[in-house]
Amino acid sequence: MVGQLELALRVASALFVIVAPTLLFLGLWRGLEAMKDDEIIERAREEGYFTTSPAPKKITSSVLPDATAETTTCDTCGTLNIDDATYCQECLGKLSDQ
Ligand SMILES: [Zn+2]
Repeated sequence: MVGQLELALRVASALFVIVAPTLLFLGLWRGLEAMKDDEIIERAREEGYFTTSPAPKKITSSVLPDATAETTTCDTCGTLNIDDATYCQECLGKLSDQ
């Protein structure tokens, strides 16, 4: 009888270990959903703090080198890098000074 009680306790604790994180996760998920629909967020949306389609950030030419700018070609992979770069942005190889 004692063995059966212990077995029942172990099964119960095992079930708890399985079920509790699931319930916690579901609770977190519900909480996040509720926060998403919060009236403050809703009011902010109505007042235009969020644009419906955020414009993609344009990469400036200083970040993305083109062939006309001063560039250094990687000896390893052939990628164009900005002239004063020390390491290749693609393969991270050391660039030789030109
Ligand atoms: Zn490279």
